[in-house]
Order: sequence, then structure tokens, then C-alpha cells
Amino acid sequence: MKISQIGEFGLIDALKAFAPVSKDVIKGIGDDAAVLPYSKSEYQLLTTDMLAEGVHFTRRMPPQAIGHKALACNISDIAAMGGYPTFAVVSIGLPKDFSVHFIKGVYKGMQRTAQAFNVSIVGGDTIKTDKMVINIALLGLVEKKCLVTRDGAKPGDWIFVTGPLGGSLKSGRHLNFNPRLAQARFLVENFKPNAMMDISDGLAGDLNHILQESQVGARLDHDSIPRHKGASLSQAFNDGEDFELLFTLSAKNAAALMDWQTKERSFYFYPIGTITANAKEKIDSKSFTHFR
Ligand code: ADP
Ligand code: MG
Repeated sequence: MKISQIGEFGLIDALKAFAPVSKDVIKGIGDDAAVLPYSKSEYQLLTTDMLAEGVHFTRRMPPQAIGHKALACNISDIAAMGGYPTFAVVSIGLPKDFSVHFIKGVYKGMQRTAQAFNVSIVGGDTIKTDKMVINIALLGLVEKKCLVTRDGAKPGDWIFVTGPLGGSLKSGRHLNFNPRLAQARFLVENFKPNAMMDISDGLAGDLNHILQESQVGARLDHDSIPRHKGASLSQAFNDGEDFELLFTLSAKNAAALMDWQTKERSFYFYPIGTITANAKEKIDSKSFTHFR
């Protein structure tokens, strides 16, 4: 069988059988980050993301933006669990003829983002490859009471996103997005989301992950899905790389959030639909996955 026949998530599912997990692991494969034991009041979070030349970036793109993105997509995954990032290791594969100036630029971009989000870069690995690849593994912490996973959405919950969607790749926004760490921390500290994830593959596919994990359905109000200027509804659903947060709140907490945002303007959260008890109500998805 070829990978293209089962797709990215089919492959991950097949590989999951070979991933041993001890009983200490609180959550392994299947969420934005793994949840691991840490202290009486906190869990440790661990996530990793890889970018490859030709797939996610080219040498014509600004190196600092590539470094920023490599770290920012990991920070986004930690934020999606309700946590905050702490320590990172960075591995790079580079061709022999690669420009030292360029890779220093990548690291400058990463440095700025690391400093902005209080991340220490504490190690990594360097190898020779045919095309540039960069992989970051990032640790984080989350207070146990603040942890949010993908499997807690309940019928009657309101579904929200943190910002407009669509057109991220075409516009270049996928390279310079700001991970929604402050919004995530605000939410977990004040409004107790039942489920949360970041939108990396597209609203449709990513919301389906929450529906699948939570064994619920959803109804979306298409007119209220915020879109970037020039982005169609289909692009908002399917483009991906938006790195906005997608989360659900109980109707009571949703009403409290809506009330809060009539008075405060520091963040804005867009209600886009509701969770239903009918697990068959999935989102029609042509979302981006690798290998298809
Ligand atoms: P995200 O987009 O949030 O980074 P992915 O869609 O890349 O998450 O991955 C989904 C889940 O599958 C995550 O829990 C991730 O850790 C896991 N995963 C992805 N690739 C692999 C792999 N090669 N081996 C084991 N787990 C994987
Ligand atoms: Mg994610």
C-alpha cells in the first residue's frame, strides 16, 4: 500500500500501534501536544513540528520568517492545550552549499520569537541533507485545572475562533502569524473552554478532529465565519495554516464571554456555530493533509 492511499492521518493511526506508552503518560498521540506528569499542580506538555524546504518554504523567502514560523507553530500547539511554552531543542538538516548567512537569519527569527514568548533554546542537532529541514521540539507547562484537550466538547457548546481564516499561504501570513498564546491563557484562566485546538490544517478538518474525539456533531453558521479579505468560504474552511484557535464553551460561559467582549476590546472571539449531540453532523472537509 502507498501512503497516498491512507493519507497523513491514516498513516499516523497505523504507526500509533508501534508507539509504546507507559501508564504515566496522560495523553499521547492525538492532541496538539502530549500531556505528561510534572508536579502536583501542573502537567508538562511536549510537541514537535517540522518544516521542509519545498513543502513549507523556499530559499526565496525571508530567513527570519522561516525561523519565526518553525517556533511559532510549536508555541501555537502548546497554547492550544491551555499551557505556556518553556524549553526547545532545534534540529536542522542543511545541504553542503547552503548559505551560512541564510541559516543565521533563520536563527535570528527564531531568537526574536523565543524571547517574545519566554522560550529557552537549549540544544538540537545538525545534519547534512539534500534540502533544508528544520524541526523543533518544545516543552511547556500547564496548570492541571487549565488543561484543555480536543475531547471535551459537549452538545450545546458554542464554537468560537480567535480570528479570520483563509488565504494564509497565498498572502504569506503563514510565515508571520502571531501564536494565540495570550488569548489561550486568557480563556483557560477565565472561561474554561471544554475543547480547544489550533487551526493548522483548515477549519473543516480540524473541527472534525474535535467532533471525532468528543463524539459530537456541529452546526456552523457560515455567515459568521470570519474570513480574511479576499478569502472565500471554501478557503476559510480548507486553506489551513491560519494558526487561530478553535474552541468550545458551555452556553453559560459563551454568554459570559460575549458579555465581556461588549465591554472589553483587548481580544475578540468569533462565535461560528454550536456543538450538537448528533455525531453524524460532521463538517464537509477537503482540508489539507500531507500525502494526498
Ligand atoms: P498538529 O497539527 O497539532 O501539530 P498533527 O496533525 O501534526 O498535529 O499530528 C496529530 C497528532 O499525531 C499529534 O498528537 C502528533 O503528535 C501525532 N503525530 C504526528 N506524526 C507522528 C508520527 N510520525 N509519529 C507519532 N505521532 C505522530
Ligand atoms: Mg495543532
